[in-house]
Amino acid sequence: MRNLVTGGAGFVGSHLVDRLMQAGEEVICLDNYFTGRKANVSQWLGHPRFELIRHDVTDPIRLEVDRIWHLACPASPVHYQHNPIKTAKTSFLGTLNMLGLSRRVGARLLLASTSEVYGDPEVHPQPESYRGCVNTIGIRSCYDEGKRIAETLCFDYRRMHGLEIRVARIFNTYGPRMLPNDGRVVSNFIVQALRGEPLTLYGDGSQTRSFCYVDDLVEGLIRLMNGSHTGPINLGNPGEFTIRQLAELVKGRINPALELIEKPLPQDDPLQRQPVIELAKSELGWQPTVPLQQGLDPTIAHFRELLAQEASA
Ligand code: NAD
Ligand code: UDP
Repeated sequence: MRNLVTGGAGFVGSHLVDRLMQAGEEVICLDNYFTGRKANVSQWLGHPRFELIRHDVTDPIRLEVDRIWHLACPASPVHYQHNPIKTAKTSFLGTLNMLGLSRRVGARLLLASTSEVYGDPEVHPQPESYRGCVNTIGIRSCYDEGKRIAETLCFDYRRMHGLEIRVARIFNTYGPRMLPNDGRVVSNFIVQALRGEPLTLYGDGSQTRSFCYVDDLVEGLIRLMNGSHTGPINLGNPGEFTIRQLAELVKGRINPALELIEKPLPQDDPLQRQPVIELAKSELGWQPTVPLQQGLDPTIAHFRELLAQEASA
């Protein structure tokens, strides 16, 4: 199989690239390096089955591929709010361009959508049938609505042109290769704790998230792409934690003496989030295997190494 992984130098994308390369497939990794790093895929540079292309998905591109894993889009609120108009363009034009490519070459396309399509949910936990509660004009809308229109485009291409699409609704995922300045909660807490700084709870920390380890997510994406279920399908770990509980877990592993400090809760921050994964279980035979308590350890080890490298540079 000739695979195109957009956003392949990013956090999730680079783990997916590893899995595809290890399976003996051909991989074209495409990225504009906004939040991705060449270092995440440097282990494959020079490999005969691997190619790396610097390209922005808002511009069309012609490539001969069989499968398109469309992940290109900043995922951390800090990064996607940095230039919200660009984020909306990435989701809309980027997905349009990838669907156009898909149609031209007859490739199957998997869209990395998100639990953010559920917004600040009034239904808990969230099944795929829930249509969401998204503020169309808030600071998260560029991302949330961007992914919603991306899903819409996928299904319209399927209806109009018979395209083979797969839509994954990914819930909060963490693991090695997140950037220290990523801004998402797991990386923030670990980096703060390793630097001996207080952990920043936004609001009182009673909001919840459900955290999936990256290896579990990648397994789910691969099963979705290879299977016959179009989706949308939730991929996430149903283990739900308050943000305060997460802070306590991180602190307990690194330095129990650290303080927790409260900072203002950002606008439209969802109060609670937990996936219903019955569909993934029945259609893909998939469920997460790594609980948060276990997945934090390799993630902490990754940041420890990164900070040590920074200190010695
Ligand atoms: P990430 O920011 O690490 O990776 C995104 C990658 O896309 C980066 O390498 C970035 O440089 C690249 N990119 C961004 N805009 C681009 C553009 N216009 N053209 C080309 N490349 C571009 O984020 P991630 O956590 O790896 O997320 C990957 C995908 O999964 C995203 O689509 C995200 O929306 C989705 N997702 C992730 C999570 C999560 O918790 N990690 C949750 C839900 C959905
Ligand atoms: N959060 C926090 N401290 C931080 C970063 C994030 O309390 O340093 C909170 C944030 O307000 C949200 C949750 O943690 O309620 C998850 O945030 P993240 O940005 O990781 O993901 P998302 O909000 O997109 O699910």
